[in-house]
Amino acid sequence: MRKVRSRTGAEMPVLGQGTWEMGEDPRRRREEIEALRLGLDLGMSLIDTAEMYADGGAERIVGEAVRGRRHEVFLVSKVLPENASLEGTIRAAERSLKRLRTDSLDLYLLHWESSHPLEETLAGFERLIADGKIRHYGVSNIDLQGLQRAETLPGGGRIACDQVYYNLSRRGIERKLLPWCAKRGIIVMAYSPLDQGKLCCAAELWKVARRHGVTPACVAIAWTLRRSNVISIPKASSLQHVRENASAPDLRLTEQDLADLHAAFPPPSRDIPLETL
Ligand code: NAP
Repeated sequence: MRKVRSRTGAEMPVLGQGTWEMGEDPRRRREEIEALRLGLDLGMSLIDTAEMYADGGAERIVGEAVRGRRHEVFLVSKVLPENASLEGTIRAAERSLKRLRTDSLDLYLLHWESSHPLEETLAGFERLIADGKIRHYGVSNIDLQGLQRAETLPGGGRIACDQVYYNLSRRGIERKLLPWCAKRGIIVMAYSPLDQGKLCCAAELWKVARRHGVTPACVAIAWTLRRSNVISIPKASSLQHVRENASAPDLRLTEQDLADLHAAFPPPSRDIPLETL
């Protein structure tokens, strides 16, 4: 699996696995753990989770899925904005580590903008790095202005990643945020690359998928990976979906494919606020 490197030296596989909605239904626990393990077998070794998902339930599922193979995984979790004071960030990370049954996270993100000053969250992140509890940190759902402001704060220059809503139907970040991050070595982590499953049955995607003998999901994910500083984290709890998604980095979209997709899913023609879910 190809890797990208952030300005802080974090090396992330271009394709990872999301976990939103995992851990909510005990009857699906086994299937979810198996799906994540299969994803690891197939090289999708970044796992994205959050204290918010299923109130810690998704982190518990991940903890079980990575048992015995933690060293293979680039593990990402997120602190809720309401917990993101200096001390609150540290305590939230410690709770996440316990649920994940690990000593450290590879990347820890602020889930979205908080009413706690960002300076405090960054100071919490720095303390967690000094204590060996996280290796890198970043943000999520933060727009260009927010990132520019963060750059001026102590620790802001060590933000490794912005995790944002990005897929064929949500292309607003291509105008400014994406190139700005690329120039600075800030990795853009595309969440909901399948637009929560909606892109998996889009007719325009079928057209391209048929040319390559793959599925629309595979095309949608491959499209997010066409830029050098973007990585993608589709979520799949079905084993068949995991297999399809894992093949996306091998798909080489042609100029014709890209032109057809661009015509079917044009980017906005003016700046729009960062879209979020
Ligand atoms: P997504 O990955 O775009 O789509 C997930 C949906 O697509 C699921 O219903 C899944 O079904 C289905 N799916 C997956 N692979 C498929 C395939 N090959 N064919 C057909 N259907 C397929 O949506 P998402 O979960 O919202 O986003 C991905 C991850 O990004 C999340 O899980 C989370 O980790 C992260 N995220 C972060 C934020 C944030 O605020 N930072 C917000 C949203 C998401 P099955 O599960 O049944 O396989």
